[in-house]
This record gives sequence, C-alpha cells and structure tokens, in this order.
Amino acid sequence: MKPLDDTLIPQVAGLSRRNLLSMSVGSALALAMKAGTMGLAHATAFNELEVDDATWRRWLSDKAYRVLRQEETERAFSSPLDKETRTGTYVCAGCFLPLFSSDHKYNSRTGWPSFWQPISDENIGTKRDFKLIWPRTEYHCRRCKGHQGHVFNDGPEPTGQRWCNNGVALEFIPEGQPLPPLRQARS
Ligand SMILES: [Zn+2]
Repeated sequence: MKPLDDTLIPQVAGLSRRNLLSMSVGSALALAMKAGTMGLAHATAFNELEVDDATWRRWLSDKAYRVLRQEETERAFSSPLDKETRTGTYVCAGCFLPLFSSDHKYNSRTGWPSFWQPISDENIGTKRDFKLIWPRTEYHCRRCKGHQGHVFNDGPEPTGQRWCNNGVALEFIPEGQPLPPLRQARS
C-alpha cells in the first residue's frame, strides 16, 4: 500500500479522544489495522481503560492482580503459557488488548513466556525500573497500564530483544477463535 500523503496524516492522527471513545470497538480495531498497514506510528486507535482499584480486584484473580496492578513477578515455570506453542494471539489479561503474537514467541528457558517483539509498539508502554540494583526496562499494556514484564537485550535475531512476560498477565487466544472485545469500564 502506498504510504499516506503527509497532508492526510493530521486528519487521521488528529482523531480526538472523544471521537475514539464514541467509536465502536470494531471500528477502532479496523482503524488500528488500517493505521498499522499505513505505517502511522502514532495513531491511537483504542480508548484507554481507567477503572478503580475495587473493579480491578473484582475482574482479576489474586495472582493476576498482584502482577498487573502491583508489578509483582510470578514464580518462574509457574505459567502454562511458558510452554504454549500453538499459533495464536496473546492479549492483556487486564483489558484484552492484543500484546503479542505466537509468530514472535520463543523458548528462552527462563521459565517465563518470551517474545522477540510485541505485536505492535503502539500497544506497549515502557519505563525504567530501579527495583533491583541495576536498572531494567519495565513494560506494560498501554491501554490499561497493567504491568506485563521486562525487556532485555539478550534475545534472538532479528531484534536481539527478550520480552520476558508474566504468563498470568496474558491470555492466549488460539488461532480460529475470535479475540475477546476490549474490556470496557462498564462491564
Ligand atoms: Zn491492558
């Protein structure tokens, strides 16, 4: 597909938050896919999800809550997703935004599901984390801000990255099954 003419980008990227909030999930996803194929680096095609702590506690298991909302790390080799090898999509267990694809998964032998790149940079946020002595790069779901894991530079080609994810922070949707609609504040 031909790259977007520069003059068109502000019209597409300039969609206001209100516009996006009023869009159906389907059309927002369609826009995300369209933006992806057009290489629009900064188009935001999903509404951010902000709910109170009580809602997160109601939605999530204790384990998932401690990882997603309190940045804890699950025990190595504790998630069945570490050994998951089927084709499919990994969505955020908090809000169901797609974060990783089986196309980019590999066995890092660390005991945590590992990927050499996310499904889209747009869906991931990062920050520096100084919880250990050395700084690490924490990453999270950009939509609900749920903590997912840390990214390291000892992964395989072609990126050399290791996105080391807590399995409990993801849900695996096998190919052929529909992706769950994005979780909304009133659900
Ligand atoms: Zn999320």
